[in-house]
Amino acid sequence: MNDVSQRVAIIGAGPAGLMAAQVLTQNGVGVDIFDAMPSMGRKFLMAGKSGLNITHAEDTQDFLSRYGENTRLQDMVANFGAQDIIAWMQELGIEPHTGPTGRVFPSMMKSSPLLRAWLVRLQEKGAQLHARHQWQGWNNAGELVFKTPTGVVNLKPAASVFALGGGSWKRLGSDGAWLDKFMEQGVSSAPFAPSNNGFIVDWSDRIRDEFAGHPIKSVQVSVGQQATRGEFVITRKGVESGAIYTVSASLREQLNAYGTATLLLDLLPDISEGVLGEKLQKPRGKLSLSNYLRKVTGLKGVKMALVYEGADKAALNDNDYLVRRLKALPLKVTSAAPLDEAISTIGGVQWSALDDGLMVKEKPGVFCAGEMIDWDAPTGGYLITACMATGRAAGLGVANWLKATSQIEA
Ligand SMILES: Cc1cc2nc3c(=O)[nH]c(=O)nc-3n(C[C@H](O)[C@H](O)[C@H](O)COP(=O)(O)OP(=O)(O)OC[C@H]3O[C@@H](n4cnc5c(N)ncnc54)[C@H](O)[C@@H]3O)c2cc1C
Repeated sequence: MNDVSQRVAIIGAGPAGLMAAQVLTQNGVGVDIFDAMPSMGRKFLMAGKSGLNITHAEDTQDFLSRYGENTRLQDMVANFGAQDIIAWMQELGIEPHTGPTGRVFPSMMKSSPLLRAWLVRLQEKGAQLHARHQWQGWNNAGELVFKTPTGVVNLKPAASVFALGGGSWKRLGSDGAWLDKFMEQGVSSAPFAPSNNGFIVDWSDRIRDEFAGHPIKSVQVSVGQQATRGEFVITRKGVESGAIYTVSASLREQLNAYGTATLLLDLLPDISEGVLGEKLQKPRGKLSLSNYLRKVTGLKGVKMALVYEGADKAALNDNDYLVRRLKALPLKVTSAAPLDEAISTIGGVQWSALDDGLMVKEKPGVFCAGEMIDWDAPTGGYLITACMATGRAAGLGVANWLKATSQIEA
């Protein structure tokens, strides 16, 4: 390894850390990128398994509103948003593909070609990659302590960018173990909680055995005042994905307040209650209820099974009850799925602990980026966008700080 005292350590090789590394190399600063795993960017690769939704093409104000009231994050995303990410991909030789709802993907959908091109580019610019380097904390001399296959290594770089991710999908490297080390150093941090996560529903054996893995398409999902149109997936333990992630914050609120939560499904969102009521006036004749419903409403498969799930079977013969079931089918949610299964987590380093360049105020030369900072956003490309935007902000923060402290020429 070169003399690291003249270089910056990037710890964590996800989208946030790699973007910080890119900005620094572009500013002529040497970087060493460390990751605990045998290879870089494992969660980024997993995110591309069913299509890497890297950002979202929509009106800027709509885009920024996905980050709630977090104006500091909004400013960073305003300075590096969808158009910048698209241009950055193209610069790496990867064309974007924009889906009908504005979701932007790399044209080949997967992450691997993009990650490969990115790592090659970074190495061409002088970045050195160090896999299997697990950061363990700081020693008494303030050095970074790494566990490596050849033993413990202590390093004192010119500055460090921590981009260690949140606290889910531990097997991909983001195990959240860093949180205790930061808390021990007095860095204001909050415990992890799931975001964009699945929920537990106590399904009957029939739903569990016959329909786990099935998507429920074109439904409206409501929790309290929040409603969204879309699809989601039935799992053996409950529900996840798409529309469920969109309402996950409302579900968590209900769970926190009441111990359980109710998800209302409109199985036929394109038909009003009144029209449905009229359609169901049609005599059933000798048809079974399922055959009748199939004929009159077009419902089948998993949606039909849900009509019967936990229903008062006798009451299904009552049209008012049936209309309510089809338009506002209640699913009782008993808890959130385990933290480790969440697509993203909230919690981590508090914004109040960080200055405008994302440096820890109480630890000069220590910067943070990505999901390890406490912010929330829905799925749809907003997560990776924020990781890259904060990675860029931290990279610029380091470059400015190095200049200001005249440590190395940046
Ligand atoms: C299944 C799945 C699908 C997803 N799909 C999308 C999507 O389509 N669009 C989207 O916007 N978001 C998606 N996300 C979320 C997105 O992947 C994350 O928000 C993003 O990767 C976080 O980036 P990051 O750089 O902050 O951290 P990470 O990508 O988590 O990277 C952190 C890195 O730090 C390393 N590390 C952790 N601890 C240590 C340590 N002690 N020492 C050294 N290295 C360490 C890890 O090995 C890891 O490589 C998805 C997530 C999952 C799980």
